[in-house]
Amino acid sequence: MTDSDRVSLFRLLPGELEAVVAELGQPRYRAEQVLRAAWHQSPASFEDMRQLPAALRADLAGRFTLDAATEVRRVASDDGGTTKLLLRMSDGTLIETVLMQYPEPGERHPRSTVCVSTQAGCAMGCVFCATGQMGFERNLKAEEIVTQVLHIARLLRERGEHVTNVVFMGMGEPLANYAETIRAVRLLTDPKAFGLGQRHITISTVGLIHAIDRLAAEGLQVGLAISLHAPDDTLRQRLVPTAGPTSVGDLVSAARRYFKKTGRRVTFEYALIAGQNDWEETARELARLLHGSGAHVNLIPVNPTAGGFGRPPRRTVLAFERVLREAGINCTVRVEKGSEISAACGQLRTDESNQFVGESEISLSPVAPRRGSRQETLSPAPSQTR
Ligand code: SF4
Repeated sequence: MTDSDRVSLFRLLPGELEAVVAELGQPRYRAEQVLRAAWHQSPASFEDMRQLPAALRADLAGRFTLDAATEVRRVASDDGGTTKLLLRMSDGTLIETVLMQYPEPGERHPRSTVCVSTQAGCAMGCVFCATGQMGFERNLKAEEIVTQVLHIARLLRERGEHVTNVVFMGMGEPLANYAETIRAVRLLTDPKAFGLGQRHITISTVGLIHAIDRLAAEGLQVGLAISLHAPDDTLRQRLVPTAGPTSVGDLVSAARRYFKKTGRRVTFEYALIAGQNDWEETARELARLLHGSGAHVNLIPVNPTAGGFGRPPRRTVLAFERVLREAGINCTVRVEKGSEISAACGQLRTDESNQFVGESEISLSPVAPRRGSRQETLSPAPSQTR
């Protein structure tokens, strides 16, 4: 077997690894040892798995890699609550991953949410998104998605913390990379692999209807966030050029079906863009559209990107929120932060292309308690505005 034939061990679901270990003539408990070491001890090589017999270590090294992401750059927001990483995959592809931390009342450790990318670039072309403007490069494999979480888990472990939530809300459209996204979810939630609860995972989509229905039928308990951005099709197609001519109604119906099938309420993400979709009349239209749906709306004032789209003034955001609330729509505004660290999706990678930046020496700083901060429900990326 050549080097290029070897696959990442992080691609294998526990059952698949157990089959390999059995094929190698080893008892079942050896598979459990491998899984524990791989997913929770960050081994640099199979040689580090000292609890395994030498022959098994050699067999595994002949078949698998333990490829990890390489950190190229790390920037943290002033309050330490948001850390954005530029990571290099083994073939050189650059992607972004974000860690968001929120103090949890009564808990010793903060909630630590990792926002992962599922594609390098994105084909959806949302006009206000830096990733959308760079175009589509390639899908990430499941192991490249989970390696983002493992990278952050290792950083957190060094200070006695751990990953509590994962949102599929970074670069790319997760449901356009369906099979690898679902495999990554299963790897992250299998108790014998990473072991995160399914309800601690949220998948965010700009709206691939057939894929939403497929996801509902997976038997998973993951949360779903749909990026709506507009209450009517004309406006939505202007902001999301790849949206179909009836996408607004189709998405609201798909959200209802998802709730009915899974029992999990859907969140609608709404990027608030100055002068585009932030009018009070637009808020009223949105309220009429979602009336009685029980859906939650997450308003996201965008961070400025190269496209010239800007964040509305605070009073406009509050007025929009008030209209929704008064109409009985459950609604929150995402914490406005992170613009000082190129927090909009794709910005860090774009910045990287424009300047040389060496390996970062910034360390993860402890989370500063934030008083009076306005909500966050899904813990998505600080300015990802799918
Ligand atoms: S906002 Fe999300 S779906 Fe839209 S272009 Fe950016 S990464 Fe793609």
